[in-house]
Amino acid sequence: MTITQREQIKNKIEVDLKTTIHEMELLQERTKPIAPDCALGRDTREEILELQRVDATTLRRAEIRLNRLKYALQKVDHEDYGVCLECDEEILFERLLLLPESTHCVACKSELGL
Ligand SMILES: [Zn+2]
Repeated sequence: MTITQREQIKNKIEVDLKTTIHEMELLQERTKPIAPDCALGRDTREEILELQRVDATTLRRAEIRLNRLKYALQKVDHEDYGVCLECDEEILFERLLLLPESTHCVACKSELGL
């Protein structure tokens, strides 16, 4: 990996971190418990609760991604960043640019069912 590529990935991590944090803030807002309000019909309440369950799942995924991105940011300057944990081959730059938190190459990822 060239220095320029590493810089590109670093920028991407920083952008993704910001986006993920922003997304989490919105989701946290939307998953706040709804106040018992008589104006809401039972069906409406159920609908809102269902949407909140979906948002809660998305929020958990975003939290996991945030942690993986933070970890990637710590590791991006190290020799072993971008090397597959399973086969020790370099992960494709295009893949890292898309998902900088990748720890496995595509082949190992699908083989391991990750
Ligand atoms: Zn691999």
